[in-house]
Amino acid sequence: MISLLNTGKPILIVGAGFAGAVHARTLAEAGYRVLVIDQRPHIGGNAHDYVDENGIRVHAYGPHLFHTKMPRVIEWVKRFGEFVPYTHKVRALLPSGIPVPLPINLDTVNEVFGTHYETAGQVLAHLKSVALEFPEPVNAAEYLYANIGQTLTDLFFRPYTKKMWAMDLEEMSAAVVKRIPLRTDRTDTYFADDDVQMMPRDGYTKIFETIFNHPNINLSLNTCFDKAMLPACEFCFNAMPIDEYFDFSLGELPYRSLKFHHRTAPGLPEQSWSITNFTDTGPLTRETAWHILPHHIVRKTGHHTLTREEPCDYRDNNKERYYPVKTADGRYNKLYDQYKAMAEFETNIAFIGRCGTYQYLDMDQVINQSLTHVEAWLTRRA
Ligand SMILES: Cc1cc2nc3c(=O)[nH]c(=O)nc-3n(C[C@H](O)[C@H](O)[C@H](O)COP(=O)(O)OP(=O)(O)OC[C@H]3O[C@@H](n4cnc5c(N)ncnc54)[C@H](O)[C@@H]3O)c2cc1C
Repeated sequence: MISLLNTGKPILIVGAGFAGAVHARTLAEAGYRVLVIDQRPHIGGNAHDYVDENGIRVHAYGPHLFHTKMPRVIEWVKRFGEFVPYTHKVRALLPSGIPVPLPINLDTVNEVFGTHYETAGQVLAHLKSVALEFPEPVNAAEYLYANIGQTLTDLFFRPYTKKMWAMDLEEMSAAVVKRIPLRTDRTDTYFADDDVQMMPRDGYTKIFETIFNHPNINLSLNTCFDKAMLPACEFCFNAMPIDEYFDFSLGELPYRSLKFHHRTAPGLPEQSWSITNFTDTGPLTRETAWHILPHHIVRKTGHHTLTREEPCDYRDNNKERYYPVKTADGRYNKLYDQYKAMAEFETNIAFIGRCGTYQYLDMDQVINQSLTHVEAWLTRRA
């Protein structure tokens, strides 16, 4: 029988996404009794998926592609289900209707400029010839103009940024776009720099079911956090928005959100990419063809599902918080730092995950951070 280190009060975990799941499972395996709550009616947080009426697996909060360089993250998730290899590809739709590889590569440059380059050297020389003079770029626009020139910037980055962030490139930090890769060869895979790309064979929800399936874990869905819960638990790991916990006393930490527009289409058409980005100035950013992802055709019905995304302010989407807003002056990071300082005075509570720490984190980063965090907490308790 597993000894319960906290025989009196359980540990409370707020949020059944990856941050909460890693904390819950690690604590449960260390012998702690854990109560996981989530205000939503399902587990998995933003990685939750389900099979729709077309027999297609759909990710409820947008496509989630698992990619990582971290061996311990791979080892951890593979304990809870089978993963299959998947190489992610994205195409951007030009105004002409022609889909081109994204990130920009040699073929993208050829299609946009009508050139016939064959080598990386030719592409680099072309980009140098169209680059504008900004020796010390102070924002995303200047950084892009200095590296890829105006045509590519205004086609692939300006409308997308306006739609996605409701911001001009001039208002955005150069750091955001510096991370976007540029390929001068024909590589057309999206995550070319990550060692492993894979998808759970039976979906993310199944992985979460297995993670939470432990005798020390109790799960309570449709349950919103209330400070009155705290005295009944030994410690609380909390993935809720940190500003909400403090009743927005210093102001709101803003997020961008997405409205999802699903549609049904006939057949199961083949194409080599699952996501198409739109370069126009309309409200939609991209469309996912779910049936292209591995094992996403769960039942053949003669139809498939396509989902388009329309970015918006999170207050216009039922307060669904997806992407923390990053500005060139870093004002919201400074506000978060103030909330973080307030949190240091709270005893027996730690903020975790995307909204608890106000950062955009990929799944592998959340898993890695959560493993480090909960292991350190256990070491301090030992
Ligand atoms: C559109 C989109 C696409 C993404 N695509 C990818 C991708 O391709 N690859 C990748 O690696 N990552 C992707 N991510 C990131 C991924 O979703 C996150 O890394 C992951 O979900 C973070 O887990 P989390 O536990 O921190 O947060 P979440 O998954 O958001 O879980 C937090 C949970 O806390 C619950 N909660 C919040 N407040 C309360 C409260 N007061 N009471 C009770 N419960 C509460 C919420 O309901 C939620 O279920 C994407 C994210 C988005 C938004």
